Amino acid sequence: MRVAFLGMGIMGRSMATNLVKAGHEVAIWNRSGGKDVEGARSAGSPADAAQGAEVVWMCLSDTKAVESVLFGPGGVEPVLAAGMIIADSSTISPSSTLHFAERVKARGADYVDAPMTGSKIAAAAGSLIFMVGGDEAVLARLQPLFQAMGKQVFHMGETSKGQATKLVMNLQIALIFEGFAEALTLAAKLGVDVEKLVPLVQASMVRSGVVDYKAPFILKRDFSPNFPLRLMLKDIRLALDAAKESRVRLPGLEAVEEVYDVAAEEGQADLDYAATLTLLEKWAGVEVKGK
Ligand code: NAP
Repeated sequence: MRVAFLGMGIMGRSMATNLVKAGHEVAIWNRSGGKDVEGARSAGSPADAAQGAEVVWMCLSDTKAVESVLFGPGGVEPVLAAGMIIADSSTISPSSTLHFAERVKARGADYVDAPMTGSKIAAAAGSLIFMVGGDEAVLARLQPLFQAMGKQVFHMGETSKGQATKLVMNLQIALIFEGFAEALTLAAKLGVDVEKLVPLVQASMVRSGVVDYKAPFILKRDFSPNFPLRLMLKDIRLALDAAKESRVRLPGLEAVEEVYDVAAEEGQADLDYAATLTLLEKWAGVEVKGK
């Protein structure tokens, strides 16, 4: 298929690379330069990339970025055409997604929100899991692209239900990781060997994919970004906003937001969200160490 891919960040660049490898004709665009993908055309603007494309796929930081790439200067809107599909794998506001989809559909194109889970490793391996909002028939047309980038697609309902689902998924990741990080901090303070604790956690009902993914990085003290802290904080805030709009109380997530707020203020925004552990360590006066 002819695909425009907008956003060559940690996730987008690997996703676009996998589309090229699967034989699709890909044009890429990124706000800042120097992020080419071998075998793809580098376009000068989102509109340039989208011109003549069957599908425009986005993977951008946040709601404002998606709005500006679709509707801002050089944006996709003027080249939208009947039959074109806009697919958004960024994690953004569900209510803004509904507005964006309305504007796109007014020009005869289709819109699906297709956020994903799996982080940097799954993006590179083409084993992402997508949670999608939109029409079944439009999803069916996207199957070859989903297959090139991921291993599973969950159709969650109409437009915006993919984004709503993504927020409740990341709510759980943030709380599960916070539990793990607090457990490690207390364990270190009490003199428990964390190299022994992690296999015990994974052998018991406490086991989790979050721990599987994060423990090896933590034991090596590698906090380079797989999922940057600033993006998890964005998602925590999106979930809290959605909760406020729908009159739901999330006291656990509110407490975790404070940890992320302080960590970001202390200069950790561009590190992985696992770096929130180092704030707990600082408060406790201890360091979690592997061998
Ligand atoms: P990232 O590495 O920070 O990349 C963000 C991308 O958005 C970059 O291409 C950046 O361009 C672009 N961008 C930011 N603001 C923009 C603006 N105003 N206009 C145009 N482009 C803009 O982020 P990522 O890790 O790839 O994540 C992308 C999205 O996927 C986020 O919504 C994130 O929450 C979600 N997500 C991430 C993961 C993960 O593990 N990393 C997993 C699932 C979902 P520049 O290069 O010019 O800055």
